[in-house]
Amino acid sequence: MLSVHDLTRAYGDATVLDGVSFDVRPGRVTGFVGANGAGKTTTMRIVVGVLAATRGEVTWDGAPITVEQRRRIGYMPEERGLYPKMRVREQLAFFGRLHGQSREEAEQRAHELLARLGLEEREHDVLETLSLGNQQRVQIAAALMHRPDALVLDEPFSGLDPIAVDSMVSLLRDEVSAQVPVLFSSHQLELVENLCDDLVILSRGRVVAAGAVEDLRRREADRFRVVLAQGSDAGTLRDLPELTVLDAAGPEALVELREGPPEKVLEIIQRTAPVAEFARVVRPLAQVYREVVR
Ligand code: ATP
Repeated sequence: MLSVHDLTRAYGDATVLDGVSFDVRPGRVTGFVGANGAGKTTTMRIVVGVLAATRGEVTWDGAPITVEQRRRIGYMPEERGLYPKMRVREQLAFFGRLHGQSREEAEQRAHELLARLGLEEREHDVLETLSLGNQQRVQIAAALMHRPDALVLDEPFSGLDPIAVDSMVSLLRDEVSAQVPVLFSSHQLELVENLCDDLVILSRGRVVAAGAVEDLRRREADRFRVVLAQGSDAGTLRDLPELTVLDAAGPEALVELREGPPEKVLEIIQRTAPVAEFARVVRPLAQVYREVVR
């Protein structure tokens, strides 16, 4: 498992990361989301070791990560890093050889990855003649060349059409099923919430929510719409310590439960007035995200 603990990074007087901690679990795809400037790239650079943290550490299976383990991470940097004038397959094979693969092994792996990404026919073309989306696919192939032990991908889906996103996701799923932890960043939660298993939401250098997507959705599910009998005033619910009234108008209110299971709270409300309706309000994660990154 790849983890970061209490990462803090300052540039001069500006603290851009402030005590960031989270895990990237093997067998799971972790989405790292936050608005522009939240600190995602800074975190990823510290993880792969191209930038030092002011404080905090990166661990692999609980121990400080070593240089050798860092070399085994497949990294797709935000600034991308391919040679525009080099041929696609030749370039990938070159990266494979830098990681110690034989010429034959590197050529074979490059061909296999390009085929998986639907770029077989372009493998002998010069990179810069490919569309930007296809260049991006080649970039992800570059990160996968050495069969990495972990993947750290900075905005891998930006600018891709839905079909390209799908093929990239299926490639990542294959890696994940081989127990490779995958961390990828995005500023578009709507795009990624269905692609990942775990989410880390970063806002202004701090983690504001982290966990399994399902749990995060469920955690948001403690809001209820209450409709009391005609003529009742839902404002009176403000007197109940078991809930917080977020909004009330006439017999209707939006409440958040503070304690107790919903059945118990319903029983308590019923003691104040007959209840016509009591229903859970599930807010989409996208709405929660907009609120936390504001
Ligand atoms: P984006 O989605 O726009 O790439 P991000 O979440 O990746 O955003 P970072 O690139 O990590 O955010 O930037 C976090 C903050 O750190 C920003 O306010 C940025 O201006 C600042 N920052 C990044 N690099 C430097 C630097 N070399 N010197 C000073 N400030 C920097």
